[in-house]
Amino acid sequence: MSAPRKKSKDKGGDEKMPTSNLNADAISKIKSSRKNSVPSDYNNLVQELLQGNKIALSKAISLVESSRSDHHLAANEVVEACLPHSANSIRIGITGVPGVGKSTFIDAFGSLLTVLGYKVAVLAVDPSSSLSKGSILGDKTRMQNLAKDPNAFVRPSPTGKSLGGVANKTRESIVLCEAAGFNIVLIETVGVGQSEIAVHQMVDFFLLLQLPGAGDELQGIKRGIVEMADAIAINKADGDIQPLAKRAKTEYSRALHLYPPKENGWVPKVFLCSAQENTGIREIWEMIEKYVGETKKNGHFESKRKEQNRYWFLQAVEDGLKRNFHENQTIQDQMDKLLQDVMENRISPLNAAEILLTSLS
Ligand code: GDP
Repeated sequence: MSAPRKKSKDKGGDEKMPTSNLNADAISKIKSSRKNSVPSDYNNLVQELLQGNKIALSKAISLVESSRSDHHLAANEVVEACLPHSANSIRIGITGVPGVGKSTFIDAFGSLLTVLGYKVAVLAVDPSSSLSKGSILGDKTRMQNLAKDPNAFVRPSPTGKSLGGVANKTRESIVLCEAAGFNIVLIETVGVGQSEIAVHQMVDFFLLLQLPGAGDELQGIKRGIVEMADAIAINKADGDIQPLAKRAKTEYSRALHLYPPKENGWVPKVFLCSAQENTGIREIWEMIEKYVGETKKNGHFESKRKEQNRYWFLQAVEDGLKRNFHENQTIQDQMDKLLQDVMENRISPLNAAEILLTSLS
């Protein structure tokens, strides 16, 4: 598969999503009012991005990640302009605890893909970077081969106030990478919590990396993460620990059978690999190709993406409602007083919530 590069014709994107006439009218009104507020520089940025220019891609991602409100509108326009050029790709999520070898794996896996003729983008969702300045994924020294590969693009983890915000930005960045011609997007996250759910909702295939030797207690990885995995790769299956790795493979294969079958008919697989010695990596890619082939054939590839779009739309609506609510001055004024009353038992929590919620109407 290689993404056919389309020349941008700046068609305004109206042909890309069928909507009812009523909605189409409303959408075109909103778009034309927005267009006036977007500086024309961004058109050039989109043109350059569509030509595969990595600097333009970086700038566009920075725009999407920016918290400035004027950037927000421009970012929406840039993403919309890129959307029609973003479909032909494979999105792969890669997770695992810190130290399992994610960056080493992505370096080896991504390099194989560029040798095979793909263009590979690497994005990250790192919940730690949104909570503190520090990043578990520690971007600086990672993926040294990919970082200098002309057919790869490695983007450091974004920072933001909330995981939801960071994940949303990563999702938009996927669209930008694909429009720039990167036909395989790898999204890395740390296997320690909520971020997997977010990443699972933005990828076609979800790969869990595990360490050998600790298979019996499933390495403290939450059951839900194993359940989400389309495959488990036991990394560091090299040197003295190979027998241990083989045992872990058997245990994981057994454990995976205990989960209910996936709706798309796919049976998750377990692989052994060594990112360091570059073994087992090609087999993992061949398995993902098989997965893509099968799910495209049975329609689940497409329907999963549609379902994901639905999820992110509803998520964004919910986030927006919450934000507007909490930023509202009337709410802020009443919140503290009601909280005090609730804590002192002067009013029931339910009653107080109702007063607060109706104070806007
Ligand atoms: P991450 O925190 O999951 O991104 O893990 P890293 O890729 O930074 O790897 C953590 C450590 O494990 C590093 O010292 C790597 O050199 C080492 N490592 C990664 N992959 C392998 C492997 O396949 N075999 C062995 N023996 N070590 C590995």
